[in-house]
Amino acid sequence: MTSDELKEFKSSLSITTVAKALGISVDHGRCRCLFPERHSHGDRTPSVSISEERGTFRCWVCEDVRGDAINLVQLSRGCSFLEALEWLKETFPFLAKFQTSAKSSGPNVGAAKKTPAIKQAQSTRITPPAEEIPSEPLQQLVSEDERKKIILAFLKMLSPVENTPAAAWLVKRRIFKPVWDKMLLRTIVDYKAINEKLKAAYSIDVLKYVGLFNDKGNLRYYKHPLIFPYLDKANRSFYFQARAIDKTVVPKELNLRGTVPYPYNMSALDGKVGWVYLCEGAVDTLTFIGRSMNAVGIPGVRSFKTEWLTLFKNKNVVLCLDNDDAGRSGMDYLQQIFTNAGIRVIRLCEGTENLPLAMKEGEDINDWFGGKRT
Ligand SMILES: [Zn+2]
Repeated sequence: MTSDELKEFKSSLSITTVAKALGISVDHGRCRCLFPERHSHGDRTPSVSISEERGTFRCWVCEDVRGDAINLVQLSRGCSFLEALEWLKETFPFLAKFQTSAKSSGPNVGAAKKTPAIKQAQSTRITPPAEEIPSEPLQQLVSEDERKKIILAFLKMLSPVENTPAAAWLVKRRIFKPVWDKMLLRTIVDYKAINEKLKAAYSIDVLKYVGLFNDKGNLRYYKHPLIFPYLDKANRSFYFQARAIDKTVVPKELNLRGTVPYPYNMSALDGKVGWVYLCEGAVDTLTFIGRSMNAVGIPGVRSFKTEWLTLFKNKNVVLCLDNDDAGRSGMDYLQQIFTNAGIRVIRLCEGTENLPLAMKEGEDINDWFGGKRT
């Protein structure tokens, strides 16, 4: 796990859900101290506060009882950092990029709840292989401002999708020009020209550092020409996802290196009272936008950050992940996160399972609205 991956994994963890999985009962952001013997009356009135948004916990009496979700696992299970990481990956496998344990085949949130809380099975964990140790962070070659400028400059080099293969691909998915324009969709028409233009403007090391270039020293998006910029509230973009339009290409999507700064189409999170549809991926989000429905997208469950919960102020959330095992377990998890934060959440099609309009097994939002995969 690289430091970027560790950062992403950490920020996707809901500390309340982790606490519950450890058998710690959390009530209104509070729980009892892990060391009740240090407290008068065995900490009958909970002294530990848990912040879902910040992902931290803190005991108001014990100096050493504080930290993030990983520290909470360490303290509760009396284990090392790496053992805690391993336990988290086993308990929340859909949040981990690389599954390390063969025996964890599903999200075990329910089963994990039964784990007795404090200091158990300390030494039964296997030491993770060497590559699991977080690596040194990349040396910062350009400032954050400069990095953003380079991403912006790259996006400006790209073409609108009109009259390109990307447009045909979108139309098959019933995503049409008003949406392309609103969301500033872009495409790489002349890969070679853009590759050269970037090389002429910046050093290869910088291009690799900002995440545009691969190890071989070329633009990463040779097979992923459709670009979905993540617009901020001022319609600027410093982050994007790239999509393959040839169905044989795996993976279908490439994310820019680093963490996802905010959900796709964040302008739907306007603080006004209402509903928002939460989708996985830009295509499903665009499908809703094309029907004038308020929707935001996340690249995947593990890229959802608990610090984003404040963006969902005044919203009720409809979870619209794929109707398959991965999507359903992701929705279980997100449902807990939103519920923990006091945000009303339901699942799309909840209660419609036996009706003709229900999503079929394996369908996503775009399929459901009649889009065609080719
Ligand atoms: Zn304490």
